[in-house]
Amino acid sequence: MLSLIIHGGAWDIPEQEIEAHTNGITTALTIGWRMLKSGANAVDTVEKVVSSLEDDGTFDAGKGSHLNADGRIELDASMMNGKTLRCGAVAAVHHVKNPISLARKIMEQSEHILLVGAGAENFALEQGMSLCSHKELISQRELNKWKAFQASHDFSTKDAFKKSNQPSDTVGAVAMDTNGDICVGTSTGGTFNKHPGRVGDSPLIGCGTYADNEIGGVSTTGWGEAMMKIVMAKTVIDFLEQNGGDIHKAATKGVDLLKRKVDGYGGVIVMNNKGEVGVAYNTPRMARAYITEQMIEPIITV
Ligand code: ASP
Repeated sequence: MLSLIIHGGAWDIPEQEIEAHTNGITTALTIGWRMLKSGANAVDTVEKVVSSLEDDGTFDAGKGSHLNADGRIELDASMMNGKTLRCGAVAAVHHVKNPISLARKIMEQSEHILLVGAGAENFALEQGMSLCSHKELISQRELNKWKAFQASHDFSTKDAFKKSNQPSDTVGAVAMDTNGDICVGTSTGGTFNKHPGRVGDSPLIGCGTYADNEIGGVSTTGWGEAMMKIVMAKTVIDFLEQNGGDIHKAATKGVDLLKRKVDGYGGVIVMNNKGEVGVAYNTPRMARAYITEQMIEPIITV
């Protein structure tokens, strides 16, 4: 069954940002659904969908991502192919417009899974990808937010993303194509004012992203330090396998575990091997959208 589910972060999305989030996920879902309907495979679809969210400027991924404590953008992304279990990921890059495309290159063109920093950017060049200027990634909105934060001299929240209202606009997608193949991709600028060099869950296979055609696919968003402790994406996949494919039970159990074990906040999007999709989160809001072949209209909610 053709199926596509995407997210644009789980946090206390303020009223004035809801329209931009809705528009961003609507555009990305529309692009992806058209592709799947016209026979595109899940990997191509996820790359395009996540790139659209990275380019949008609204989300904490690609252009417009949060700045770190040095006032720089450091991007992370990952992708996994559920048919082959091949995966690729990139972390802490400063000059890559679409980290999801670099994650795909690493998945398909290298013998490695995770490349970081300058080495990852060199690999991008070796693969014929062009790098962008760092400035191109920075938005006025995020610069203002970062400057205001620096001026407040309140550094107590530097690594404290624990609260449900901290911004978290990571993006992700899970797609199933006509062959029943599943692909998952996740992309982020990480947490606001993070320590330079900090890497969260999103580029870690099993934490931010997991796909296995036999079971399903998961992409996560939320407090990375908590997600990593319970290996969130793979944990939800394991729940899915154990419960016979009940997406809602698996997603809810994952988020309950996140809160109970590590006092974490965030959300997951989940697809099973039949293409059924579900969402769970424990933040005030989560931007998500999905459509399957069994639906007439997509569901788009923030
Ligand atoms: N999980 C991401 C991270 O910790 C943040 C997010 O989902 O927005 O890097």
